[in-house]
Amino acid sequence: MIIAIDGPSGTGKSTVAKSVAKQLKFTFFDTGAMYRSFAWWVLKQQIDPHDEEKVKVALTGFEYQIETDPARERRYIVNGIDVSMAIRTQEISTAASIVAKYPDVRQTMVKIQRKYGALENTVFEGRDMGTVVFPQAEVKVFLTAKAEVRAERRYRELLIKFPDLTESLSFEQILKETEERDRNDMTRAISPLKKAPDAILIDTSYLTAQQVIDQIIAQVKLKQKKTSFSMGIFYGVVYWLARLYLKLFYRLKIYGLSHFRSGSAIIAANHASYLDPPVVSISCPEEVHFLAKESLFRVPVLGFLIRHLNSHPVSRDVGDATTFRLIINLLQKGKKIILFPEGNRTADGQLQPIERGLAFLTMKARCRIQPVYISGTFKVWPPGRPFPKFFGRIACVFGSPIEWEEFEGLEKREAEKQITERMKRALYNLKNWYDAGAKGFPP
Ligand code: C5P
Repeated sequence: MIIAIDGPSGTGKSTVAKSVAKQLKFTFFDTGAMYRSFAWWVLKQQIDPHDEEKVKVALTGFEYQIETDPARERRYIVNGIDVSMAIRTQEISTAASIVAKYPDVRQTMVKIQRKYGALENTVFEGRDMGTVVFPQAEVKVFLTAKAEVRAERRYRELLIKFPDLTESLSFEQILKETEERDRNDMTRAISPLKKAPDAILIDTSYLTAQQVIDQIIAQVKLKQKKTSFSMGIFYGVVYWLARLYLKLFYRLKIYGLSHFRSGSAIIAANHASYLDPPVVSISCPEEVHFLAKESLFRVPVLGFLIRHLNSHPVSRDVGDATTFRLIINLLQKGKKIILFPEGNRTADGQLQPIERGLAFLTMKARCRIQPVYISGTFKVWPPGRPFPKFFGRIACVFGSPIEWEEFEGLEKREAEKQITERMKRALYNLKNWYDAGAKGFPP
């Protein structure tokens, strides 16, 4: 799950985001610290932040690492130097909001942020998390507060962090700089600071940090509850009956469910048997969609069942374009769809080459791929057998997701080649993990 917390400086974003992450055992990611660290790097090389060309060049030598110290505080490392303290000055605040205007700078930062977001449950705080970086974030919050209140908070924070500055700091100066930074952030051409339409707005001017944290946690809990009960009644009843059947007769085992994320995704599995669609959908903890041959919809009972279980008819006559449009449409509505990118069922039980369609759909719908390895269905119901065997052993293994953002910016063919390769590798890795005894956590 991704929680996106945006808003101008001084709204208490960092305190709140850190605390929310701690309570939920999520990772915390301060994207402002990234822009600050880069601004530090720019100034260190004596580059004027207004000189876009030189700033762009500075990007190539910028190496950024985040570490956690024994007190569980984040340390920001730029080219081997710990800058955690140095990036908190007013000079860096101003420089950060200047360099953050440049498209090349933002592109580089956003790529890194999305990579982190793909890894685990994370609370991201920044300016464009809910609007640009993670428009699919499950919970979005936008914090505001009056400029005077924010400047006052910043003034106090600076006095605590840099007590030697007591003489030279003036509240009026901080207020002026706060307003100027807001203007910079709100009026820049790309990714300006603004509330995402689906973000909840919280004015923190007269709230304590704890009150804000409680509101956000309540929102997250609501979302988690919604996700776990997101099945319709009919789907839910069939789901639990089919699950019971698969568990009793085929000892169905499900691995790697913590790789499963909410939001749209292609659930891509190897294909060995007619049992694969029910096995994968029963293994997913929420409603999923799949495709079925149009002729199946005309079979009595079966037709009724699949129609009410999120199946979508496809016909060989209408061609790939119509099917692709149908899939993209579902993904853009935030649904999950099960696909078998090997195309046909395997004839010998082995994994088969991955078709290019998967990569095409991923980039078109800008969604993630959730790789799944299914074991055992080939033995239970191989091609050519009219009915499945009565007993057997089936497993469904979820692997770590493949995110489309990793391939953003690549030339179309290259992206498709790399995605196809990644998917193939993911299936082999999951198979090897399972065949080696399914120990620990699937890759
Ligand atoms: O949040 P913080 O005040 O540390 O951010 C420093 C500056 O970095 C902001 O004023 C803003 O210009 C920039 N920033 C951004 N996008 C983000 C986070 C910060 O442009 N996601």
